Amino acid sequence: MDKSLNWNIETDTCQIGTADITRVVDLDRQAFAPRIIFPEATDEIFQKHSANLHDQNFDRNTLDLFLSFHAYLLRIKNKTILVDMCVGNDKSRIERPVWHKRKGPFIKNLNNIGIKTTDIDYVMCTHLHADHVGWNTQLLDGRWVPTFPNAEYIFSKKEYNHWENGDGRYSEKEKLLHGSFYDSVMPVIKSGQARLVPSNFNLGVGVQLEPAYGHTPGNIIIHIEDGQEHALLCGDTLHHPIQLDYPGWKTNFCSDPEQAIITRINLLEEYADTKTLILPAHFHSKDLGLISKVDGQYILRVKD
Ligand SMILES: [Zn+2]
Repeated sequence: MDKSLNWNIETDTCQIGTADITRVVDLDRQAFAPRIIFPEATDEIFQKHSANLHDQNFDRNTLDLFLSFHAYLLRIKNKTILVDMCVGNDKSRIERPVWHKRKGPFIKNLNNIGIKTTDIDYVMCTHLHADHVGWNTQLLDGRWVPTFPNAEYIFSKKEYNHWENGDGRYSEKEKLLHGSFYDSVMPVIKSGQARLVPSNFNLGVGVQLEPAYGHTPGNIIIHIEDGQEHALLCGDTLHHPIQLDYPGWKTNFCSDPEQAIITRINLLEEYADTKTLILPAHFHSKDLGLISKVDGQYILRVKD
């Protein structure tokens, strides 16, 4: 295997041709009881599969699953792009205590890899759930303003239209977003920095959107190509590595769980045993890599 296609756990980066991708962490490890995410999960299944999981994605004592909340920073063809904007700081998220009024180090983490908020050319969100839009905005003098003043924010038009009812008020569904449509999407629309695009939009620098509906009605995945190399930022089509064993499990976080299963299995079938690096939104860096299918089971091929 081409060594460059491996995710480097020490630097939390990889190279895709001349481009590089870095994982920028907002919230490294949040515990979820398996049945909060997967209604079909049982303790027996997790005991059986614990050999395939590790301390960064699974707690052997409580059987809790850990999810990471991070953005991917992409530097490609002189453009600097952030994908999936995590939870954010200062947001009122009463139903999610870990996210509520956070004071996380995301901007410091960006600065530590030499990136200033003014450096970002594009911000992209695979969908508009609260944990994918949080850092779109920050609280400044009591107002939510775009965090990245020079960035164009790319949103799927279909996704945006779903959450906004078109007459300036917010639909009932907005409650599902914990208020994030109001504090993390609308300020970007009002600032004029948002661009609503078709689900198959091509940014023109080796970054191409593709529809992947199900998790949300306008959910997209993002292809990164440079030279012969390819990575797929696949957002929440996969939430946790246990779904490689159980791709047919429904999740409680999907708008259309049945469609989400079809989308997930199609993606796994298409990219198993290829050189495409699979980069989901909530996987720990140890779980970022290639996927194989062996005896009918999908497995991570993190290191060859
Ligand atoms: Zn998510």
